[in-house]
Amino acid sequence: MLAKSSTELVRQQNSALVLSALRRHGRLAHTEISDATGLASATVSAITADLERARIIEKSEQQAVSGRGRPRVLFSQRRGCGYLVTIIISSDSIQYSLVDYAGTLLDRFTEPRGEGGTATFLAAISAALTRAATRSRIDPARVLLVSISSKGLAHPAAPVLVWSPVFGAQPVDFSQALTDGWSAKVILNNETLLVAGALLEREAKRKGEGEPVLAALSLGHSIGLGIARRGGAGLPEISAPNFGHMLHMPDGGLCRCGARGCIEAYAGFYAILRTAFEVPMDTIPAKFVPIAEIDKIAAGARQGNRMAQLAFRHAGVALGNGLSRLLSLHGHMPVFITGPGTRHYDLLQAGMEEGLSQTQVVRLGGMPNLLVVPDEASLVFEGHLNLAFSIIDQDIIASRPHMQAAGE
Ligand SMILES: [Zn+2]
Repeated sequence: MLAKSSTELVRQQNSALVLSALRRHGRLAHTEISDATGLASATVSAITADLERARIIEKSEQQAVSGRGRPRVLFSQRRGCGYLVTIIISSDSIQYSLVDYAGTLLDRFTEPRGEGGTATFLAAISAALTRAATRSRIDPARVLLVSISSKGLAHPAAPVLVWSPVFGAQPVDFSQALTDGWSAKVILNNETLLVAGALLEREAKRKGEGEPVLAALSLGHSIGLGIARRGGAGLPEISAPNFGHMLHMPDGGLCRCGARGCIEAYAGFYAILRTAFEVPMDTIPAKFVPIAEIDKIAAGARQGNRMAQLAFRHAGVALGNGLSRLLSLHGHMPVFITGPGTRHYDLLQAGMEEGLSQTQVVRLGGMPNLLVVPDEASLVFEGHLNLAFSIIDQDIIASRPHMQAAGE
């Protein structure tokens, strides 16, 4: 009994390895699967045959480049095995994407975020989910996972937004957005956590020298941070510490969260606006600052406006100090900077380096690698796909308890 269940466990792990190799590299031939997973050829044969029988993967033929000889047989995830909906919530809009099991984007639309409380918000999401399924003529029951991201603090175990810039401490339980006919699992993650996961996966695809641990720093209306580390069993460990609301200065400027002196109260867009226009530090400017306003301040700073320059310098120092604390606690790691605020990186950089260089961890270990990756939107979507499909693949394998053992 015990022997059999451990055989089954090994088999599930090997199936997961095969599916994740196909996720990472796309269509693969038998020998390529063997190379990518380190599994013996016979094991790969047994697993691919089993996954194909279960209609989880499918075969396709590719004609040899020379046009002669036998075509190559390639394996890939079967598109219709199930579906994924991703929901990316930003400060002014919500983007919905419908993706098939092979990772193909089938439909995407964006809706304005709208006014109103959490009930109105959830009802709008519910209606949009139904619309996404109807437009592509997909039975909602075949959507396996709804993957949601937002700024703010996500509950560690449930799809509940615990704190967000828009709803404050009023919790939002996204499982309530699924109406009758839907049976999908719902997950919620902090947006910058997904960015960190996507960056780590990009590193893993670079052969040999990819970074084993990294941080993603998102600059915009709010300040986000994610840390991603290569885990033992090949699965990444990703987390999103509450960086934006970490203390920068005791009794300092008032933050949107209600506390004083948070990093965001110096480095968020509203904070840059506040310093540049010499508004008192206990004033909270508008909830949403159009990027054009910040671009204007940036243009002023580049033309020599002293208060505008100071606003970006203060923001940079707050970010640099915060990063130095991150490195002191977690050790050295490269920091990938993303988000709309990267447009002003030329103005932030000196302050960030100044804020970093004040601490021992940097004096001894040197300045961390700071790299700008401006296209946050594709990183967020990539992060959704990576995480969501690793969960979907695990669930699909685990829900098939009667797989035949190899060689039986
Ligand atoms: Zn705060």
